[in-house]
Order: sequence, then structure tokens, then C-alpha cells
Amino acid sequence: MRIILLGPPGAGKGTQARILMDERGLVQLSTGDMLRAAVASGSDVGKKADTVMKAGGLVSDDIVIGVVEERLGQPDITNGVIFDGFPRTTAQAEALDKLLAEKGEDLDAVISIEVDDNAMVDRVAGRYTCAKCGEGYHDAEKKPAVDGVCDKCGSTEFKRRKDDNAETVRARLEEYHRETAPLIAYYGGKGKLRQVAGMGSINDVTSEIRQVLDAVG
Ligand code: AMP
Repeated sequence: MRIILLGPPGAGKGTQARILMDERGLVQLSTGDMLRAAVASGSDVGKKADTVMKAGGLVSDDIVIGVVEERLGQPDITNGVIFDGFPRTTAQAEALDKLLAEKGEDLDAVISIEVDDNAMVDRVAGRYTCAKCGEGYHDAEKKPAVDGVCDKCGSTEFKRRKDDNAETVRARLEEYHRETAPLIAYYGGKGKLRQVAGMGSINDVTSEIRQVLDAVG
């Protein structure tokens, strides 16, 4: 199964992808995570991506498509994949169509998580993750049951993304509307688009996505 989660920063793509990965044995392909790993490693790709990411811009299509192409060639992908944060431009969507067609594969569904943009700055600016297992938390919406201890793995170390501050989130939202929102019509035209309401609880959104997956799977 090959699924794309589409939505602005803060829509819950990463949170939902992690749940589905555990539930359905799919691989989460997050270009944001891959680019952050490249930045941390100090590779050429990382050096090129770093400044753009800090400013909330989009890393060039060539770089991102190259990273995705390499990842899709790895053996663990055969069970299926959830694209999280990719594609973000029409050129990336066209490149993905081509990469999948070359393997005789196709997308099963593109799930657009519909949210209220005005709420996204607070959502993103308040979020943080466990430094060890990656479980997501939020200052107001989802604190650990025991203060300072990860519910999932017991670690006491947490981290926040550098680009999760109000100013950068606004820039990322602008990029979303300019470059990524047109993909809703792109996939609508191909009959792939499914819309789910994204302002409910994490569980509510997961239930809606499950219904979509059960219908297409
Ligand atoms: P994310 O973790 O998906 O919010 O991505 C964090 C940042 O990485 C974005 O603000 C972009 O700078 C960069 N990035 C991630 N995915 C892409 C992509 N598909 N195309 C271009 N830039 C990306």
C-alpha cells in the first residue's frame, strides 16, 4: 500500500504516520526527518538544506527527489509506504508518479488532512518529541502522564525542532499554500484524493484515516 498524507505543518501528518506504521506495518517516509538527519550528519545534502529549513523554505526539488529515490530503492519499502511531507510541489508529485510507474506501482490514496490554518501556529510552536523514541507531545494538548518522563519509553530527554517557532511556522504555512496546496487539485484530478477532518482528537483523525485505508486496501 502506498499512501500520501497531505496537509500544512501541524496537521498531524507525522503523528498519524507513526500510528499507521505501527498498526499496518508500513514504512514512514518523512522527507523532513531524512533532511534533518542529513543536516545532523553534515553531508553535502545537509549543508545545502540547513539554511533553507531554518528559514521555513522548501529544499530544492532535485535534492528532495534524489533522497526519496534512494530511499524507495531500499528493501524494507516492499510492504508499503506512507509519504509524510512529500511531495510538496507539483514537480515532486510528477517525479513520484514516474518513480512508481517505473516499478509498476501506483498510489492507493492521497489523504488530505483538513485543518484550520489559524490554529496551526500554536499547534506547531507547542510541540516537542521524546529524544529517544520520537513520541510526540504538546505543551497544552498532550503532556506526558508523568511530568518529564516519556509515556512510551521512559526517557527523560525531549527535544524541539529549531523550525517550530511562530515566525518560521508562518513562512512554512505560506510555502504550503503557494507550492503544496495545488496538489489537492492534482490528485483530485487523478481520482486519488480522500479528505479527512483534522481538527478532532488524534484518535478521531486516526479512525477517519483507517476508514479510508480499509476502503482502498
Ligand atoms: P517537515 O518535517 O515535513 O515539517 O519538514 C521540515 C522542513 O524540511 C520543511 O520546512 C522544508 O524546509 C524541508 N522539507 C521537508 N520535506 C520537503 C519536501 N518534500 N520538499 C522540500 N522541502 C522539504
